[in-house]
Amino acid sequence: MRPPYLLLDIDGVLIPFPDADGSTPAAHARHDVVPTDRSADNPVTVWLDPAHGPMLMDVISAGLVTPVWCTSWRQDAATLIGPLLGLPPLPYLDLPRPHITTSHPNGYLWKRDHVDAWLAHAPAVWIDDDFTGLDHAWAAERIAKGTPTLLVQPDPHLGLQPEHLTEVTTWVAQLPTARAA
Ligand SMILES: [Mg+2]
Repeated sequence: MRPPYLLLDIDGVLIPFPDADGSTPAAHARHDVVPTDRSADNPVTVWLDPAHGPMLMDVISAGLVTPVWCTSWRQDAATLIGPLLGLPPLPYLDLPRPHITTSHPNGYLWKRDHVDAWLAHAPAVWIDDDFTGLDHAWAAERIAKGTPTLLVQPDPHLGLQPEHLTEVTTWVAQLPTARAA
């Protein structure tokens, strides 16, 4: 059976929020990238932890999960951010572009309705820094219906930590499909 999806956010996960003084987190390297909706003279500065690429590849290359970008970077995740971490081109969710001023316009993460429809009943682990209680309730409801679901929520000021991926691999290992494989 197909491995569970790994939905992966970028802002607050691979690009943590700046430190209190606005500086780049110590482990991270600065890059200027030009998203598809910007011109070359208007780049965006991002900071990425070079350790994240190998950490993610350990999980991806083991075939434990089916990775999919789930981020407002959309296709730029696959073409700009992933390559800076040494990741192969991964599929991405073509999220809608709602006119919202908060990431929780209805009290839950704006991506969720799209994710819910896209996943249908597929097992999934979703790493995002921005879940609310309603998102955790959504996950609990999926689990109650028999759909393995795990939300992993890094602190946006710290971003993805090794223990988050340990949580992912531990969760995958206990899935019935993993035991049967
Ligand atoms: Mg985020």
